[in-house]
Amino acid sequence: MRPVSSRRRFLKQSGLALTVLAFPVPFTKSSIITTMNTTQSFDVIIIGGSYSGLAAAMALGRALKQVLVIDSGQPCNAPTPYSHNFLTQDGNTPKGIAAIGKQQVALYPNVEFFNGIATKGTKTKRGFEIETATGEKFVASKIIFATGIKDIMPPIEGFEDCWGISVLHCPYCHGYEVRNTTTGILGNGDYAYELAKMIANWTSNLTIYSNGKATLTTEQLAKLQKHTIKVVEKEITKLDHNAGQLKTIVFKDETTVPITVLYSPRPFVQHCTIPESLGCEMTEDGYIKVNGVQETSVEGVYACGDNTTRMRTVANAVAMGTTAGMTASKKLISEQF
Ligand SMILES: Cc1cc2nc3c(=O)[nH]c(=O)nc-3n(C[C@H](O)[C@H](O)[C@H](O)COP(=O)(O)OP(=O)(O)OC[C@H]3O[C@@H](n4cnc5c(N)ncnc54)[C@H](O)[C@@H]3O)c2cc1C
Repeated sequence: MRPVSSRRRFLKQSGLALTVLAFPVPFTKSSIITTMNTTQSFDVIIIGGSYSGLAAAMALGRALKQVLVIDSGQPCNAPTPYSHNFLTQDGNTPKGIAAIGKQQVALYPNVEFFNGIATKGTKTKRGFEIETATGEKFVASKIIFATGIKDIMPPIEGFEDCWGISVLHCPYCHGYEVRNTTTGILGNGDYAYELAKMIANWTSNLTIYSNGKATLTTEQLAKLQKHTIKVVEKEITKLDHNAGQLKTIVFKDETTVPITVLYSPRPFVQHCTIPESLGCEMTEDGYIKVNGVQETSVEGVYACGDNTTRMRTVANAVAMGTTAGMTASKKLISEQF
C-alpha cells in the first residue's frame, strides 16, 4: 500500500525539524579571526572569483560557511564581446554575467572578497595557508581552485588582437553568429581534421590553413576534398584586421586571402600553479585531476571550471563550481557535527 501523505500528518511528523529550521543556525565556525594581525581564518578559501569560483562561493555561502574569494580579475574570456550558450545569459557580455554573479554572492555576509593574486599555498596542521602577492596570509581548512587556464598565443602578428572576436576557440560559443561565412581553421594533422569535420556543420566555406606542410593523411585529404574543404599550406605572417575583425590572412610570399573567421583552439598552461605545488595530481593533458564531485587527489583541496576540463563553457564552469562548493561544505558539515 502506498503511504498516505497529508498536510496535517506532514506538519505533525516534521514539527521538530521545522522548529529547528525556524531558528537561524549560528555559524559553526567563529567569524573571521585575526591572529598576528595578518592571518585571517576561513572555512574555505576559493582562489579564482570568476564563474566557477562565484558558483562555489554561492553554494558555500548558502551553507553558512565562512568563505574568502581571492581573485586577480583576469578571466580567459575577457576579450570576447559577447558570451553565448549559457541559459538565461545568452548574448550578455562576459563582464555582465560575472557582475550579476558577484552581486548575488555578495549578498551573503559570510562571503568575503579579496582582489589580488594568490602566490603560495602551504599545507598546515589544520588545513592550508594561502599567501598573496602583496603579503597577506589567509588560512582555511579547505581550498577550492577555480583558477582557469591561460591560452598561449602563436607568434603571428594580429592573432592576439583578434582572439575572442574573430579568432575563435569553440563553435558552440560563437559558431552560430558566424555561420556560413568565409571560415578558416588554423591547425594541422588529426587535430585540424577533426575540427574541420565539426566546423563543416556551421559553414560550407571552409579552409584549413596548416601554416606549413600539411600533416594530414591521404584518407583525410580525400575526405576533406569530398566535402570541398580546401587545405592551404603557405606560411602565415600576419592577420590583417579592423579592431579585431579579421579582413585578410597575409602569407610569407606576400599573397593574401580574405577571411571572416578563424578557429584556432590554443595550447594552454594552468593560470595558477599552487595546486601542483600542493601535490595535486594532473592529467596527461595538463588539467587538475578531479573526481565526479570535484575533489582533487589532495585531501581538502577541490578544483572546478576550466582548470579541470576541456569542456570549456560558462555553464560547465558554473555547474562544477556549484558541485565543488557543495562537496566542500558537506565535508565541513560532517567534520563539524
Ligand atoms: C575567448 C573566449 C571566449 C569564450 N566565449 C565563451 C562563450 O561565448 N560561451 C561560453 O559558455 N564560454 C565561453 N568561453 C569559455 C568560458 O569563458 C570559460 O569556460 C569560463 O570562463 C571558465 O570559467 P572559470 O571560472 O573556470 O575560469 P575563468 O573565467 O578563466 O576565471 C579564472 C579566474 O581565476 C583568477 N585567478 C587565476 N589564478 C589566480 C590566482 N593565483 N590568484 C587569484 N586569482 C586567480 C583569474 O584572474 C580569473 O578571474 C570562452 C573562452 C574564451 C577563451
